[in-house]
Amino acid sequence: KYFRLRSWTGFICLIRGLRGLVSAEHGDDSAKNEVYDVIISGGGMVGSAMACSLGMDPNLVGKKILLLEAGNKKVMDKVPDTYSTRVSSISPGSATLLSGVGAWEHITKMRCKPYKKMQVWDACSDALITFDKENLQDEMAYIVENDIVVAALTKQLDSLSDNVKVKYRSKVVKYTWPMPHHAADSIPWVQVTLANGETLQTKLLIGADGPNSMVRRELGIPTVKWNYDQSAVVAVLHLSEPTENNVAWQRFLPTGPIAMLPLSDTESSLVWSTSHRLAEELLELDEESFVDAINSAFWSNENQSELIETAGSLFRGALSTIMPSAGSPRQLPPSVAGIGPKTRVMFPLGMGHASEYIRHRVALIGDAAHRVHPLAGQGANLGFGDVACLTQLLSQAAFNGKDLGAMQHLLEYETERQRHNLPMMAAIDLMKRLYSTNAAPVVLLRTFGLQATNMLPALKEQIMAFASK
Ligand SMILES: Cc1cc2nc3c(=O)[nH]c(=O)nc-3n(C[C@H](O)[C@H](O)[C@H](O)COP(=O)(O)OP(=O)(O)OC[C@H]3O[C@@H](n4cnc5c(N)ncnc54)[C@H](O)[C@@H]3O)c2cc1C
Repeated sequence: KYFRLRSWTGFICLIRGLRGLVSAEHGDDSAKNEVYDVIISGGGMVGSAMACSLGMDPNLVGKKILLLEAGNKKVMDKVPDTYSTRVSSISPGSATLLSGVGAWEHITKMRCKPYKKMQVWDACSDALITFDKENLQDEMAYIVENDIVVAALTKQLDSLSDNVKVKYRSKVVKYTWPMPHHAADSIPWVQVTLANGETLQTKLLIGADGPNSMVRRELGIPTVKWNYDQSAVVAVLHLSEPTENNVAWQRFLPTGPIAMLPLSDTESSLVWSTSHRLAEELLELDEESFVDAINSAFWSNENQSELIETAGSLFRGALSTIMPSAGSPRQLPPSVAGIGPKTRVMFPLGMGHASEYIRHRVALIGDAAHRVHPLAGQGANLGFGDVACLTQLLSQAAFNGKDLGAMQHLLEYETERQRHNLPMMAAIDLMKRLYSTNAAPVVLLRTFGLQATNMLPALKEQIMAFASK
């Protein structure tokens, strides 16, 4: 009996040894085909925040989480002397999320500019609206360079290396989807193939791979999308003189909105959405003419007509007899004296919405699920909202011992986020259309609408609360 047992053990060892030899020959070691609990595809602002948020969650400790990013690791040992042209207005809700994942502290140490007020006005009439937080006590939002947001999240991911693994320069080239009801020849997990040939598996894939999402495309998720007839020109602006610079300015021109967002006492960031042709011309202009064009876009009254002006002031007069103290005085934006050394860049603008954010074992977040016009500064904020919502649902699922890739909580994520994102996207698209014309009836309509809204503090509070989530 003893002999038989020993020979049986030896036989198992022999088989194991042979299997080891065969798999080494085929390069099939256990590191490959590793099964992760969550793989996040895309490490932009939103995907990196998702990785941090999952890595920090106490209910997800011990889960295998991997972030894949096609680009290089973005470390920032020292904050660059010059500002980047790519910035985002980060809402208080997003700041809370970034603070919860430990990145906000790094951002404030690096560079960020809070602002307390926003003035939006129409180039075709006198109509304007201002938003401020309880008479300038609180911050309305923060202007942060995108590189700084990513660098802060990267730093935080470094400190979470026990919980989250990150692979940079790792482009996904193929996804293989599981069949919901385990067909005999299908794997139960999502399989991810990298450009270097490595294959990985995951119980849940989170697609954070931007507006041209390969995850969304390969899943064949129907997407409503269109290109706008506009491109955004971005640049760093030097102001004529130092100011407190705590107001975000946006003026709607018939060709598109121009925005000046504060960076420091002497510098602001330009986001000028305009026709593709004008955008190309703006990139070609010498510095002096470019600066003249910006100042004139903010100051000139060439698009105003007497009819609209008279109607607008009559309406405003009528409103102020009903609500004498409401409304706010017009302020003038600072004038621009020059531009920063970073080159001006233009981006074609579009809108897109995935009709489904989830599939079996897959969820889309950020621009992969929704892309908006920058006029409301909401794109990344909507993405951070997705991160907060999905983290909370996955955390709860893990706490209850549920499968992270199960449809039940993914469906909750989709419902909750679409309920928030769709009205916001519709409002942004409507604004874009309403302000892309100088036809008198439309100008009158929006003039009355803007003036009335400006006189209704409760409505403005609601708009602000919705936009700051
Ligand atoms: C001019 C302009 C101004 C804007 N201003 C604001 C603003 O003020 N406020 C605001 O909230 N939003 C703003 N936005 C929108 C904001 O920039 C985007 O919503 C945000 O960058 C989206 O982030 P994301 O991480 O979802 O996608 P992305 O930034 O596109 O990141 C996707 C990442 O996925 C990686 N990736 C892609 N494919 C693969 C693959 N196959 N394998 C591995 N990795 C992959 C990419 O390398 C990239 O790093 C603005 C946009 C523009 C154009």
